[in-house]
Amino acid sequence: MVQRTLAILKPDCVRKNFTGKVIDQIVNAGFKIVGMKMVTMDAKTAGEFYAVHKERPFYKSLVEFMSSGRCIPLVLEKERAIEDFRELIGATDPAEAESGTVRKLYAESKQDNIVHGSDSQENAVTEIHFFFSERELIPNS
Ligand code: ADP
Ligand code: MG
Repeated sequence: MVQRTLAILKPDCVRKNFTGKVIDQIVNAGFKIVGMKMVTMDAKTAGEFYAVHKERPFYKSLVEFMSSGRCIPLVLEKERAIEDFRELIGATDPAEAESGTVRKLYAESKQDNIVHGSDSQENAVTEIHFFFSERELIPNS
């Protein structure tokens, strides 16, 4: 089934100029980019995006990190996009990520891990709509 997933190139990715390399890897893995923008989230917005983690000890630091600079949300389309993108980026902690994955290649810590990827169909829909309106995502164009 063709699916859509939400990716975010996080502020560390943009700051370190890995944007081009990571997008190249995403495209070479067969994902079609159907939405892309650059945003800077304030703390409130980043906190809403990661609300599911608000009780976790790393939440405050995560919100500071995600609101520390520009990031690039992407809507990606592919067969099995959600699962395949999680595989492409690797484990949350780059020390545990498989070789060749985006996080293994570019991430420096469990927090500063370069990229976000939706983890379920339901969350993908919610996260895509967090950043993109329907008219920005016209199908089959
Ligand atoms: P993933 O992004 O792989 O789905 P989670 O949803 O568990 O990981 O966590 C969301 C984000 O919070 C991670 O990508 C990472 O930036 C940060 N994070 C997760 N766990 C930790 C941790 N133990 N310490 C610091 N930051 C963390
Ligand atoms: Mg997650």
